[in-house]
Amino acid sequence: MPSQKAQKIDLNAEYPCPLCLRRRGRLALISLTEAFGCDRCQQIFVVEDSGYAIEQLSTSYPYKKAWCWRGDKWMTAHSTIRENYLPLSLGIVVFALCVVAVLAPQLTKDPKIIIALALVVLGVALMPALWQWIAYRR
Ligand SMILES: [Zn+2]
Repeated sequence: MPSQKAQKIDLNAEYPCPLCLRRRGRLALISLTEAFGCDRCQQIFVVEDSGYAIEQLSTSYPYKKAWCWRGDKWMTAHSTIRENYLPLSLGIVVFALCVVAVLAPQLTKDPKIIIALALVVLGVALMPALWQWIAYRR
């Protein structure tokens, strides 16, 4: 019975690739590094300092994906930037909405402009969500 607790990543062990499980990608240690490479999708994963998770080495995402090994499968651990990114962007959105709500009626009496401003703020607010959606679709 495999343990459900996170296990330390063994650099000498072979792991399945968390990104291409269906294609049975295997992670193999890249010699002279503490990084794993997948033989199918060519993605590179580095072991985190704690030794309990691997992080996808990627520049195409706004955040890094990480996984913990649970003995028989990978569990999504956390997304390093996303955790800070989401509350931060929400805070900015709430602040911007307040500014628009206070300033817009003083600047103009035209409800169309106020609605347009609100839509712009909403658009900016939805960008991170859209970004994540695109990243998760892959
Ligand atoms: Zn892979």
